[in-house]
Amino acid sequence: MKILLVEDEKFLADPLIAILKKNNYSVDHCFDGESGLDHALSNIYDVILLDIMLPKLSGVEILKKLRKIDKLTPVIMLTARGEVPDKIAGLDWGADDYVSKPFSTDELLARIRAVTRRKNKIIAQNDELVFADLTLSPSVLRLSSSSAYISLTLKECQLMEYLITNSPMIISKEKIIDRIWGFDSEAEDNHVEVYISFLRKKLLHINSKVSIVTVRGVGYKLCSGDLETDF
Ligand code: CA
Repeated sequence: MKILLVEDEKFLADPLIAILKKNNYSVDHCFDGESGLDHALSNIYDVILLDIMLPKLSGVEILKKLRKIDKLTPVIMLTARGEVPDKIAGLDWGADDYVSKPFSTDELLARIRAVTRRKNKIIAQNDELVFADLTLSPSVLRLSSSSAYISLTLKECQLMEYLITNSPMIISKEKIIDRIWGFDSEAEDNHVEVYISFLRKKLLHINSKVSIVTVRGVGYKLCSGDLETDF
């Protein structure tokens, strides 16, 4: 799971990032509203945590612009005491939830789990993701079908998770690179092709009906194997 944190207060952001990472989230952090908006529009995040008072562009402004294009990515506003009107504006403009500073990290983690469950509508128990006959267990890096299971590397697991949570959307190679390797990485298209081929071999190995379909010139999507119309 990948989280975007837009928060200009370093003393709040640093401990929060540490806790999120400890809970197996990968985190990108922006200090100001402009870079926050750029990142938010990339559509590679599972959750966006948005402070309201930010340099350059406020959290509410980011949310307004984001929601014109992306109505789905869950947004949790981080509000300070006394920002009640902003809080209401945030919810009006399509935030999914908010926490008031100072908040307990347990509360924030629970809210992150709740909004991602709502978004994905995937049966998620003990952090497992289910797609057709597949169950992905990120905490133990394991992919199971109804008859067998196999271990995944961390990158394979992240890629599978990205494909499952975005199904039935087609995911471009560029988005996969941004998401799995990060914006600053030197990874190229063939890195993605290699990892897709690893995953395809593993899907065959466990006899899953699920396949990763190449949509030429666009990207990849998961096919459950049940639907002839998947293409
Ligand atoms: Ca702030």
